[in-house]
Amino acid sequence: MKKAPSRLWIIIPCYNEETVLPITCELFLNELKDLIQKKKITDDSRILFVNDGSRDTTWEIITELAKKDPHYIGISQSRNRGHQNAVLAGLMEAKDKADITISIDCDGQDDIAAMEEMVDEYHNGYEVVYGVRNKRKTDTFFKRFTAESFYKVLKSMGAEVVFNHADYRLISARVLKEFAEFKEVNLFLRGMIPLVGFKSTSVYYERHERMAGESHYPLSKMLALAFDGITSLSVKPIQMIMMFGCFVAVLSFIGVLWAVISAFLGSTVPGWTSMTCIICFVSGIQLISLGIIGNYIGKIYMEVKHRPRYIISERTWEQDK
Ligand code: UDP
Ligand code: MG
Repeated sequence: MKKAPSRLWIIIPCYNEETVLPITCELFLNELKDLIQKKKITDDSRILFVNDGSRDTTWEIITELAKKDPHYIGISQSRNRGHQNAVLAGLMEAKDKADITISIDCDGQDDIAAMEEMVDEYHNGYEVVYGVRNKRKTDTFFKRFTAESFYKVLKSMGAEVVFNHADYRLISARVLKEFAEFKEVNLFLRGMIPLVGFKSTSVYYERHERMAGESHYPLSKMLALAFDGITSLSVKPIQMIMMFGCFVAVLSFIGVLWAVISAFLGSTVPGWTSMTCIICFVSGIQLISLGIIGNYIGKIYMEVKHRPRYIISERTWEQDK
């Protein structure tokens, strides 16, 4: 059991959200004040809006909010860098100033009330708490189908993600400090946080409809995110080329046998057998070679990320803070 209350920073990425921000900002503040009143978090907890290079009045709204209530604060990115980078910017800003962070979208789709359970789980000893959608009633069939397929494809490709968890999660400052050592630029936070380790759990909530405005994640962006997720977390596609190479090599071997037998049976024209043998042999060799080279490239790719090679979570002796 950890000592309550803790300093919480809520991290909220915002991109062209002038229609929804004035509605949801109140809801975030109410939740924060409620948690402060229940003595689960301290009064110097903050709501940090990260403006992701919006082209509308989002930043003006944030600066006005910051003047109105000291719990609201904001940072602005010099240009639009995408949701993942905006969340990262907020988390890194908070890591030395907060005890815990909760990242959440600004459109009210994720149940804000689930924050209390997240904070409780932190006080129960969990360092990472994933918000997981247990129903997608309000999503269209198409969005639900594509979103759920997204997790299944990622998993089959070797990227470890929590099913139906997006970027609504609590992370402790301690985990953030270790996470800061992950220097890669291709970000896929929901796949990277599990790599950091530490005790984690999930809380379940119902996903609502967007309170206003439109989604910035159409199918094309979701496919791009899935591709990013697979290629930044896994070298399985490269291994698949290698396996395919072996498969083609076996087929080629059968092809050679077939060509030679056909030649003996006399059912071929001159030159066909030798040509077929060469084509089969070379194509098999080529794909295997490509797979081997690919494996080296995969290893180089993992090396250049400079991820930490180990992270220690416990020691039997006390550490200086
Ligand atoms: N967002 C962002 N930068 C972008 C796109 C989106 O910061 O380039 C933010 C957006 O303001 C919202 C969150 O990311 O708070 C999720 O976006 P959205 O609600 O459009 O996605 P969906 O929930 O439809 O997948
Ligand atoms: Mg949304």
